[in-house]
Amino acid sequence: MEDDITRLARQDINVLQPYQSARTIGGQGHIFLNANESPLLNCISVNNLILNRYPECQPEQLITNYSAYSGINKKNILVCRGADEGIELLMRVFCTPGQDIVITCPPTYTMYAKLAEIYGIENIKIPMIQNKKLNFSKIVKHIKRTKLIYLCRPNNPTGYVINVLDIVKVLEITKSKAIVVIDEAYIEFCIEKNLVNLLHQYNHLVILRTLSKAFGLAGIRCGFILAGLKIIDLLKKIIAPYPLSTPSIYIASRSLDEQNIFTMKERVYQLNQNRNFLVHHLKKNSIVKYIFSSEANYILVKFINSSKIFNMLWKQGIILRNQDHEIQLSGCIRISIGTQEECINLITALKRISLH
Ligand SMILES: *Cc1c(COP(=O)(O)O)cnc(C)c1O
Repeated sequence: MEDDITRLARQDINVLQPYQSARTIGGQGHIFLNANESPLLNCISVNNLILNRYPECQPEQLITNYSAYSGINKKNILVCRGADEGIELLMRVFCTPGQDIVITCPPTYTMYAKLAEIYGIENIKIPMIQNKKLNFSKIVKHIKRTKLIYLCRPNNPTGYVINVLDIVKVLEITKSKAIVVIDEAYIEFCIEKNLVNLLHQYNHLVILRTLSKAFGLAGIRCGFILAGLKIIDLLKKIIAPYPLSTPSIYIASRSLDEQNIFTMKERVYQLNQNRNFLVHHLKKNSIVKYIFSSEANYILVKFINSSKIFNMLWKQGIILRNQDHEIQLSGCIRISIGTQEECINLITALKRISLH
């Protein structure tokens, strides 16, 4: 009997025989002449890592460490080339272009819509009500052709954390109908709000994670997909044979050591302090109209005459992210939380602009 997840996946992916790499075929030999690798080392070396051989597709040590960190079983974890690749792999498994649709709820991370566009998958945008509430009636209306719903929590760029009861409601109305993807790229900044426990109850829930934000490792391109076994198995069919480089795997594994997790948490604490400090000072500035309350390492600020402010700061070498053109965000700028010194410089620059 076909289960729900199999039915939701693209039929051609269900029957796909995945590519068999030399690594997946394996073997216990001592002479490996099966992957057209070089038997000779390049003279470039990093920490004595073995770089002439292809890496593991799903590195055992890295998954073990992420399992310990997240509290999720190893079999429910897939390592990928950043959370962005996770967003993309899900579209490729579940959506047939020209037939299936994905739902996004702007204002939100725009890569969901962009990747759908690149793959020729229709994206129905169902804006959040007052940037906080999901529009359930609209979601229900489109659920029939929907394969994926992307929700970002905390949301980028607003910083808002969708109420857990609303998430449960989405999971209930999508049961057997669509996959719900919760993007937890920033969850370390409010870790107590993570939703991994819901994975036990809902086999159509997927959680995306990354080492790019709180872990401070955007440069190594490492993300994780957390989901039920059925979804993980489907994703494994289509993921590249060697998605992560050997140096990335090594650094990612180490970043999940007990000591490094401790220092990550200290950095998160510091950045949250910096955020509160920045908000406190911006509130006193008359050119600030509104500050969205954020639980992540950025804040969204509505300014009086935002494009002028954005350009003036730009010329001074302070580069922010303009959100003026995004749905429901006219006059808004997203500010990443920097060091305390960077926050002070920004506060001072904005004060000077306000006195103009
Ligand atoms: C930064 C970001 C990502 C991308 O993460 P990578 O792991 O660097 O690919 C995904 N989702 C959201 C919401 C982000 O802000």
